[in-house]
Amino acid sequence: MPVAVINVRPSRQRSLNRIRIDNRNKEIALACIGERVLLYAPRDEVRHGYFASALLVDVVPDRTRRRFMFLTLESVTIFGTFYRLEDLATPLESQGYRGDGSIEFSHFSPSIRALSHLDRQAALALVTDAQVHSAAARPSATGDAVAPAPAMRPSYRTREAAIRKARLRWAVLYAYGTACAICGDDNSIHEIGAHEVEVCHLRALAHGGPDELTCHADVPDRSLVL
Ligand SMILES: [Zn+2]
Repeated sequence: MPVAVINVRPSRQRSLNRIRIDNRNKEIALACIGERVLLYAPRDEVRHGYFASALLVDVVPDRTRRRFMFLTLESVTIFGTFYRLEDLATPLESQGYRGDGSIEFSHFSPSIRALSHLDRQAALALVTDAQVHSAAARPSATGDAVAPAPAMRPSYRTREAAIRKARLRWAVLYAYGTACAICGDDNSIHEIGAHEVEVCHLRALAHGGPDELTCHADVPDRSLVL
């Protein structure tokens, strides 16, 4: 079930597996790691509306443009059509509508926004509808509709670990930059947000070592991150 919506301009993406968006709502993005999300093309795109769903697997800061971040998406499922706000029978993001039913377009501008519990049901219904329609439209040599393999959804523990890792990586990159703290080498590919980040916990994670970037000499247990 989708838990958030991400604004994506299909016309400006080389790939939907690595997208760059505004990072003001990074906390929402981090919380959605391991969850499915809907992709929404904003209204100034020629074709606009909800057009795909995907599994959000990682969030990485963009060190070249500090107000942006990269999202890694997997199992991207493109709908056969764009579901425009005006054409939806029931609002998918209910907070985006005024009392009289007219659309509050400013609601749809944040780069990533969380879906309420009720709206998640509507989002799931949309995804299901899209699957039915794309299966009906897809020509098949054998006449049999081939169901797409279900996306592997990470277990809760794995999801927690992935969120923690993404959060720690973000903090380290902002505190220390992308170059090696020892030798100064920087093998980053900034254009795609690829960095080599090696973090050592002074107190092992297995023993409850915290993800803290500070080291206090008087508290030898504290973790140090280089
Ligand atoms: Zn080095």
